[in-house]
Amino acid sequence: MDPQLARRQAAYERENDGQVPHLLAHLSEAQLYGRACIYCGDESEPKRPVEASSVLSSELFECVDTGACFERNARTQVPE
Ligand SMILES: [Zn+2]
Repeated sequence: MDPQLARRQAAYERENDGQVPHLLAHLSEAQLYGRACIYCGDESEPKRPVEASSVLSSELFECVDTGACFERNARTQVPE
């Protein structure tokens, strides 16, 4: 995530403490906008809303196919 956006997201989480989940700092702008799955980053597979919001969108999404999502997520994990 872009550092400025990361700061805005962190401030948003502080302002809404206890009401919004803390999101992983490596989420992309597409994920924060609700265009891409917040777990694997996919933008083309069918999505369903998750109980989460970001500074950019009140609705975030995950893949309907959680098995495929998990596999994509495992593949796209950047080694520390
Ligand atoms: Zn996914």
